[in-house]
Amino acid sequence: MSKLCALVIGHKKQSPGAVNVKAGITEFDFNEDLAMRIEKKLKNTQIQRVYRRTYKQLPDDINALNPDFIISLHCNAYNTEVSGTEVLYYHKSEKGKKMAEILLSHLVAYLKLPNRGIRPKTSEDRGGYLLRYTKAPCVIAEPFFIDHDDDLARAQADMDGLAESYAVAITQISEALS
Ligand SMILES: [Zn+2]
Repeated sequence: MSKLCALVIGHKKQSPGAVNVKAGITEFDFNEDLAMRIEKKLKNTQIQRVYRRTYKQLPDDINALNPDFIISLHCNAYNTEVSGTEVLYYHKSEKGKKMAEILLSHLVAYLKLPNRGIRPKTSEDRGGYLLRYTKAPCVIAEPFFIDHDDDLARAQADMDGLAESYAVAITQISEALS
């Protein structure tokens, strides 16, 4: 039976997360576009895109879908100079850790940015609330720093190429969780 992946678009239209002012693009806009491209590429895994109503409601909204696993799409931001790729998972979740390793390896291989590794998070950390209160294994993708112009350019150079690297990772995660 095919697996169901909840693909969560970080932030929301009215509160779109981090921004690259020069390029005029937000995390939300980038990841909404990306999510639709990822969805088109997957054949053997079902994708359900999830939009945030409020952050508080988000875990319940996702749990109601009863997905097999969850990937939340974000972009990092810091001081316009830090660059690289990382994936966050809940510190107590072995499946989450495995998912993070798979997704990180594909994103690093594709983007060729500095590998910042997989990052265990507790419920107190940023993103930890989602990781803690979702029932299925969950990771938060931070493929690049949106406020870093070269990182963003790398990601935007070929959106379908980036979507394909997510799609390959999602397929591999589906198999790994079987
Ligand atoms: Zn974010």
